[in-house]
Amino acid sequence: MAETTTQTKQVEVFDASNGARIFRLPLEVFPAYMGYAHLVQHGDRLTLVDVGSGYGNSHADLLAGLEQVREAHGVDARLDRIDRIIITHGHIDHFGGLMRVKEAAPQAEVGLHRLAKPVLVSYDERVLVTRTAVEDFLRRAGVPPERLPGLLEMYMLGKREFKPVPVDFTFGDGDVIDDTFRVIHVPGHAPGLVMLLVGDVLLTADHVLPHTSVALAPESIMPYTGIGHYIESLEKALAVEGVRLALGGHEEPVEDYYGMVRRTLDGARGRVELVYEHCDEPRTIYEIALRIYDSLDGYSELLKVEQTGARVEYLHQRGRLAIDNLDSLEEEHSPPLRFRQV
Ligand SMILES: [Zn+2]
Ligand SMILES: [Zn+2]
Repeated sequence: MAETTTQTKQVEVFDASNGARIFRLPLEVFPAYMGYAHLVQHGDRLTLVDVGSGYGNSHADLLAGLEQVREAHGVDARLDRIDRIIITHGHIDHFGGLMRVKEAAPQAEVGLHRLAKPVLVSYDERVLVTRTAVEDFLRRAGVPPERLPGLLEMYMLGKREFKPVPVDFTFGDGDVIDDTFRVIHVPGHAPGLVMLLVGDVLLTADHVLPHTSVALAPESIMPYTGIGHYIESLEKALAVEGVRLALGGHEEPVEDYYGMVRRTLDGARGRVELVYEHCDEPRTIYEIALRIYDSLDGYSELLKVEQTGARVEYLHQRGRLAIDNLDSLEEEHSPPLRFRQV
């Protein structure tokens, strides 16, 4: 991890069909976990899309990337020259560095989808309300009581450090920002997640990535997320026309955007059916997760239980699964629930 120095991270440059130039800035957003911010130059305007996590090397990597843009490409990309900052969604690896960036870029206007606004302006409230929802979810998922405190602690990890940042503008699906970005709202992975179309280049953020199917939680924890929205948003992604190149918030650039979306959609539907098959007998979400995944430990335990819960919720919302032990729901607030095929 210490061997990933800022010098080895190369900024990549892409020209979009509308005349915009996109600089892809590599950031170590968490130890040994890479992400990307994008600096978009269109006419005399500079827009920074995402800012990294602010943890560890992330902020230094961002500054080093902007320095490379200045030295190698002759664009005066200092933070105090940036006109706008657009945040693609309310996850810490994309916006956590905003406080520090704003200190050096007080002139830059901050914008994001209106469903992501609460994350920036009422961060503590959001974290605590969600924590309660996570606890209810984990109880109903049948997580053994002795594992609950550990999982809740994992959920809160690093979450109390962000201080609210004012939002200057919000946008919605179909809006065009500065004649440069067309907004495509793709809820699922996060409520206010957007992709941004810049000419024939699509900044896909975390909606579709070449290798990873993104983390998903049930809507009972966070409204406007869940598998239903995610699958609809993948169908919407397929319908975006004229994408020559996709640049995600993680992993490498992709030329076969439509193939990537189709594979992602097939995978998402396949994993829903896998969960359905494991409900041939009444089972809790935790039991299903234990059967599907080789191991449940570390941070992945929380993610895997949440993903399984999201798929159970999707099937339950559509009447393909039903609760087998309704009687315990009559007696208790959050008993472990067993789901079976209808
Ligand atoms: Zn994300
Ligand atoms: Zn991310």
